Amino acid sequence: MGRIPDLPCDIEQVVDLLGIEVIRDTGTQLHCRCPFCADRKAHMNVKIRDNVFRCNRCGKGGGILHLYAEYCDVNLHTAYEELCKIFGPDGGEPVRKCKRKPRSIETVELPIASAEVRDNTYSNLLSLLTLCPTHQSALKERGLKSEEMELLCYRTTPTTRLKRIVTELLERGCILDGVPGFYCQKDSGQWVLDIRGSGIMLPDRNLLGQIEAIQVRLDKVYNQKFYNLTSVDQYYGTQSKCCPHYVGVHEGDEVVCLTEGVMKSDLAYSFAQGSPYECGFVGLTGIPSYSQYERALEELDSIGVKRINVMVDSDYQVKEEVRKARDRYIEMGAAAGFEMAPITWTQKQKGVDDLYKHLFRDK
Ligand SMILES: [Zn+2]
Repeated sequence: MGRIPDLPCDIEQVVDLLGIEVIRDTGTQLHCRCPFCADRKAHMNVKIRDNVFRCNRCGKGGGILHLYAEYCDVNLHTAYEELCKIFGPDGGEPVRKCKRKPRSIETVELPIASAEVRDNTYSNLLSLLTLCPTHQSALKERGLKSEEMELLCYRTTPTTRLKRIVTELLERGCILDGVPGFYCQKDSGQWVLDIRGSGIMLPDRNLLGQIEAIQVRLDKVYNQKFYNLTSVDQYYGTQSKCCPHYVGVHEGDEVVCLTEGVMKSDLAYSFAQGSPYECGFVGLTGIPSYSQYERALEELDSIGVKRINVMVDSDYQVKEEVRKARDRYIEMGAAAGFEMAPITWTQKQKGVDDLYKHLFRDK
């Protein structure tokens, strides 16, 4: 290997060239906002004398060439050539200077936070909200009692006070990074709650009862009834990810009922309380959602469930795609060692929630 000739520049000049934001300059070190990760403070440390950098947040580090190469997405050889051209004796045109703005900030997306973090943030968020009278009466119409609405933690999407809600969450120590539904305002760096449609917020809970996601049942249905709280395509936003929704399922239960949707499971479970049909529910939150169903099967097996009552909408009798999904659920469950019990009822009641409402609430 031949000796690499010296570069005609130091790291400070390259930091300037690339427009990396320097938050603090100690004279020997620059504390910068790292352009390679979702750094909002000054995690990138640049040692001026040694001409090296390192981010304590994402771990990226190296020398001048690495910084330039990583930033401009070129190899080290090209980085060397370009830096020589920019800073060399001919003082050529800065080839890259305006080509690349600080790393495509529009699309910075954070990886999703852990279930614990999401649960804590979402629980705190819901605790700051209420269920408006319109939604209360709509749910009452569907057969739900006030105390059940409260127990299920159903809330109305906020339309005002959004800033104060976010401030309160931060003051409570909630983490908003990587929690779908929150993103950062690009110019101010302030966190924002992303509400994309008004409706009833339904907590999507995992087997441990943690809220992994929030579904919103929209007031105005355009092409879908529900959407999941998300901040995808926003600066520091995160894409939503639902989990199989559990209600009333406990370790040691031998039987659970399977249906689709958070609200349907919640309602059916609530309506059957105290009846001979009382049973925990698993609601799949996508139709069909086989990968999620696989997760549910593993989890149900882990707590000792033996039998699954399949209670998908009765329109499987006329809708090909619903029937296919139902067949697949039965097949996959049987293959996983469960006793599968498909339940059929009259098409007068579409969902198991309608059926149970008819049986237990409409009297
Ligand atoms: Zn970093």
